[in-house]
Amino acid sequence: MNQTTKINWHDHSGGKATVLACMDPRFAPESLDIPPLLLAMPELGKPDVIRLAGVGQNLINPEHRAGALHSINLSIEAHGSGLVVLYHHYDCGAYGSTKKCGDGGEAERKFHATELKKAREVLRSFLVANGKSDVAIKLAYLDEDTEVVIIEG
Ligand SMILES: [Zn+2]
Repeated sequence: MNQTTKINWHDHSGGKATVLACMDPRFAPESLDIPPLLLAMPELGKPDVIRLAGVGQNLINPEHRAGALHSINLSIEAHGSGLVVLYHHYDCGAYGSTKKCGDGGEAERKFHATELKKAREVLRSFLVANGKSDVAIKLAYLDEDTEVVIIEG
């Protein structure tokens, strides 16, 4: 018998929040980046997690926007999510790794904060246009020390 965990298919208690996180394989097996976020933002409960390389790029870039918005919208409509977290990380390959993002520390955090705020504006416009302006959006960044930084403002 293998060691896989049984899924309770009748448990619909999750999905009240949505996390858009990167596909980065350093976070395998599956969710090593998520526990620090859940500690920093306990209000997330057991969120839907959508994985897309570069996270905010998918909202900022019009060519990739439809897929990201479709998945976020499905999380809101099917699972009742009322909070979407856009979650970037240090040394993101989709952004050309740390060398193209400020080379770590405060500079890299600021780079990602700027990108996250651009992505938030696209998502906010979509939510308002679709009668979902009550859905909250938060921004977070996983830094080089595996600490979650909540991006304010
Ligand atoms: Zn990444």
